[in-house]
Amino acid sequence: MDSVGVAAAAPDAGPGPAWQSKCPWGAPSTTSISCSLADVMSEQLAKELQLEEENAAFPEVVAAAEGPFITGENIDTSSDLMLAQMLQMEFDREYDAQLRREEKKINGDSKVSISFENYRKVHPYDSDSSEDEVDWQDTRHDPYRADKPTTTPRRGFIGKGKDITTKHDEVVCGRKNTARMENFAPEFQVGDGIGMDLKLSNQVFNALKQHAYSEERRSARLHEKKEHSTAEKAVDPKTRLLLYKMVNSGMLETITGCISTGKESVVFHAYGGNATEDKVIPPECAIKVFKTTLNEFKNRDKYIKDDYRFKDRFSKLNPRKIIRMWAEKEMHNLTRMQNAGIPCPQVVILKKHVLVMSFIGQDQVPAPKLKDVTLNSEDMKKAYYQILNMMQQLYRECNLVHADLSEYNMLWHDGKVWLIDVSQSVEPTHPHGLEFLFRDCRNVSQFFQKGGVAEALNERELFNAVSGLNITADNEVDFQAEIEALEKMNEDHVQNHGKKLSTFSSDGDPPIYDE
Ligand code: ADP
Ligand code: MN
Repeated sequence: MDSVGVAAAAPDAGPGPAWQSKCPWGAPSTTSISCSLADVMSEQLAKELQLEEENAAFPEVVAAAEGPFITGENIDTSSDLMLAQMLQMEFDREYDAQLRREEKKINGDSKVSISFENYRKVHPYDSDSSEDEVDWQDTRHDPYRADKPTTTPRRGFIGKGKDITTKHDEVVCGRKNTARMENFAPEFQVGDGIGMDLKLSNQVFNALKQHAYSEERRSARLHEKKEHSTAEKAVDPKTRLLLYKMVNSGMLETITGCISTGKESVVFHAYGGNATEDKVIPPECAIKVFKTTLNEFKNRDKYIKDDYRFKDRFSKLNPRKIIRMWAEKEMHNLTRMQNAGIPCPQVVILKKHVLVMSFIGQDQVPAPKLKDVTLNSEDMKKAYYQILNMMQQLYRECNLVHADLSEYNMLWHDGKVWLIDVSQSVEPTHPHGLEFLFRDCRNVSQFFQKGGVAEALNERELFNAVSGLNITADNEVDFQAEIEALEKMNEDHVQNHGKKLSTFSSDGDPPIYDE
């Protein structure tokens, strides 16, 4: 829906100047009437709105722009697209507010209520500023709430003798028409007219009705289009704005498209833009957008909840902030890996829940996952030893366990394996760190054993080789039990000493395996 509420009368938008001049209380100073976005954009009005919208309606946009690569001064809103986005967002918000008023009016004090939730443009957790906005439901007195206008009863007339009024009476008709506006689709903006003693002539009412129906159809079409566009489906308006800003600031040249849509994230490809004083932007970038919906993050809180690095922050946070923490975690973990020389994407910048990193691949084609590439036996063996080394480096130098290591999160590029997807990685002393490591080892062992690498250690040998621990159990169940016992010991230590063991006790440094 790309209509925008502006203080201007659109020619086709129902009540024209005629009723305005007839209004007993005079013409309203700001009449919110829908008109097409194109109309607005084509006028110089856009210029004025731009300033006004930015400064007044979008204080948080300017605030959000503070950062290493975008500052308040250099937001370039001369881009039509950008401006359109901002207008659209403001419109969506106003529209939702109107919807809430409608909803409240209909529900009244009734015990049974209906919800317009599904008609909303911006959903509660999609709105960044939702936490600082006034919750309308807490407002005892709704200034928008007015008494219902009275209408004539069914039989078509009211009163007696000389005072009889029929349904054709101009005043009654007008009131009735006004009341009927309630029957328009909820997305049709009728303003506050319903609540007032407003009388619409039949002609105006019919024009409005027509307009409401065509609006409804247009909105349905637009919704359909929206559903079918990957990018639109993938990111909410706030995220889109973040991405546009990255392009507008020149940090990114263009965002070319979506590489992957997962449960927890969406990854885009982009061409890098201009370097800044302190940053060289890679020629090709991957943008990982962490999804800001409630459902998925729940699957993951076992990783982050027990991670002491985030422990103090976890309980106090709202879901949106927790999602940002995932992005932050991935950034920190990638940086550790980079410092250890492990092949992995290089962090470019983190903005809220959007992580920009170097692209592994070339000319928009991402490097294949290990599960999708067919390697000759020599490369397969090479890949195996490389991974073994990387796992040891990760554990010892980065103090990390990948925790989602498998052929799905390893890319084959430039004749070597690259590790990605480390937002869920934890330190080995995480309450479940060793279990995660064991699972990683199982995935790696199975993949390479099936892939015909005769040298591949089994999962238990691999676990000991990576961790430097010496668990002797010769079967899976006992091995698992010993791992859990170690984890428990560590937890007890935390309870008694208030801090973690820096590492698990081992029989010495883990052996270095090499070709
Ligand atoms: P998810 O949590 O959705 O699995 P990933 O980080 O694994 O997130 O990214 C999903 C997919 O996007 C990967 O399998 C890979 O194909 C692609 N991808 C992610 N990061 C990059 C990158 N830096 N370069 C190239 N492709 C990437
Ligand atoms: Mn992945």
